[in-house]
Amino acid sequence: MPKKASARKRPATKETKKPARQRAAPVRAALPALSRPIDTFDFCRSLIRDVPNFPKPGIIFKDLTPLLANPRALHIVLDGLAERFIGEPIDAIVGIEARGFIFGGALAARLNASFVPVRKPGKLPAAVDSVQFDTEYSRESLEMHKSSLREEARVIVVDDVLATGGTADAAAALVRGQGGYVVGYAFVIELAFLGGRDRLLPVRVESCIRY
Ligand code: AMP
Repeated sequence: MPKKASARKRPATKETKKPARQRAAPVRAALPALSRPIDTFDFCRSLIRDVPNFPKPGIIFKDLTPLLANPRALHIVLDGLAERFIGEPIDAIVGIEARGFIFGGALAARLNASFVPVRKPGKLPAAVDSVQFDTEYSRESLEMHKSSLREEARVIVVDDVLATGGTADAAAALVRGQGGYVVGYAFVIELAFLGGRDRLLPVRVESCIRY
């Protein structure tokens, strides 16, 4: 019987030599050393910059760019929102221009859902459905490509900030107009004193950081 090639012994080199069996390192040891606890939204809150009188006098703009610049904080808010919907069948994330694209796109990837942009007028190239609404600042419209959603698609509407709720409510109207079902809303920041949540109820509203 011919000898199997694999049976022939070759001298072990540095690359092929098996490492000595080691005791498994404790899981905790794999975590990076941190100078402060990061598993709370307080850390993320500390990275939100208040810009007074932008875009209009009297408005305190919640600037999320410092949070976006911090990879840990970005993970915390994305995971924090995603875990609230994990295990639920979600067909699409509808993200509202412009900052809703950042969080909505990443959330769609985490939840294995498609991403559908809702944009300001004239930005989407193909035929659109459109809706008008009032914001804290002015009268606006939003558009979504026609046939973006299948009938009874389960959708989460995502934006960076919930203020009066008009913008998210308008995006939901676009979703419902295409036969979709709004399962929930997800925001990084909720300006609770403006009562936007009440406008969106009874649909579930999730947010990470409340003011
Ligand atoms: P609203 O329709 O009143 O809920 O307003 C929400 C939309 O306006 C979101 O797309 C936000 O990006 C933006 N927005 C409203 N108020 C603020 C604020 N104080 N800081 C940052 N963005 C805001």
